[in-house]
Amino acid sequence: MLEFKILKKSTKSRARLGVLKTAHGEVETPAFVPVTTQAAAKALSSEEIKEAGSQLVICNTFHLHLKPGEDYVQQAGKLHEFMHWERPIMTDSAGFQVFSLGFGVDHGVGKKIKKDDGKKLNKTIKQDKQPKNLKITDDGVLFKSPLNGDKIFIGPKESIAIQQKLGADIMFAFDECTSPLANKDYIKKSMERTHRWAKICLEHRSSDQALFGIVQGSYFQDFRQESAQYINSLDFDGFGIGGDLGISKDDTRNVLNWNIPFLDEQKPRHLLGMGYLDDMQIIVEGGVDTFDCTVPTQFGRHGIAFTSEGKLDMRKAKYFKDQEPLDKNCACPVCQNYKRSYLCHLLRAKEITGLRFLSLHNIYFFNNYIKILREKIKNNEI
Ligand SMILES: [Zn+2]
Repeated sequence: MLEFKILKKSTKSRARLGVLKTAHGEVETPAFVPVTTQAAAKALSSEEIKEAGSQLVICNTFHLHLKPGEDYVQQAGKLHEFMHWERPIMTDSAGFQVFSLGFGVDHGVGKKIKKDDGKKLNKTIKQDKQPKNLKITDDGVLFKSPLNGDKIFIGPKESIAIQQKLGADIMFAFDECTSPLANKDYIKKSMERTHRWAKICLEHRSSDQALFGIVQGSYFQDFRQESAQYINSLDFDGFGIGGDLGISKDDTRNVLNWNIPFLDEQKPRHLLGMGYLDDMQIIVEGGVDTFDCTVPTQFGRHGIAFTSEGKLDMRKAKYFKDQEPLDKNCACPVCQNYKRSYLCHLLRAKEITGLRFLSLHNIYFFNNYIKILREKIKNNEI
């Protein structure tokens, strides 16, 4: 069950305000989606993720399949009961791991390459090339378990079967997230396979969970358009925008412009695995309704806080005697109750509480940042 209602469309950009209605409640969009890979945001409880203002989370199909296994989660009452999160949940399809455990590992790159990775940019992955640790066929992908080396096969049917047992409100179709280093021939072949898989996913859905189709096509305008038109022609409940988005902010804008106009505007759009703080406005103006990223918790675990003064490395000695709150403009429980001096002490003393506090504050900060963007759409400022 999924309903999407658009409340207001900006006249300045493709930004829109909406409400996503699920069996587990409503989500005000645009919304930031914290990543709860193994049914937990690292170091935080579900209550704390909620306290940080989160409306919806995304769990990882591949990792939950590895441990504890989807049968285990199903027996425990499916994800909502298992992780005690009563609000909406998404599960990705394991398509990202086709990249992250494949060519991503082989070339030491992420989905977004940095400018100074220029040398790597000579599109080295040619058609029919296979990554070292997994095998991609027309039926699906043979993974090697990162835990014990066991062979694990996941294709479109398997991905849907796993996601149905996990029981999220929104599932994603199985795809291949392609490497930014793949050449045009590779991308074409992969995109066509992702399209075939999308159809198979729809045919094998037997639950009332919503299913989003994923658009691929890398950084090629013609493929992005073709993929958006094809995925849009199928009976999906919404869309995921996957794959790499180029290097610069202009590249991100371009990819969204090549995809979004070809997607049914009445259906929600999720941007998979992207969203640095300074990208958020670009993404929202591009017409994205929800997006997930691991930045707030990842940075939090490294002692970095996002604040209204910018990113602060709270391990630095200068905060040791700082008696101000972490961010005086933040209403999160950490900023209400603790000073920078204490947080700095916790981090320097390697107390796990320090990392927990920064993760909680950072998620709150991201949620609040997008709340401000929602206000700006309401006032037609962006
Ligand atoms: Zn705070």
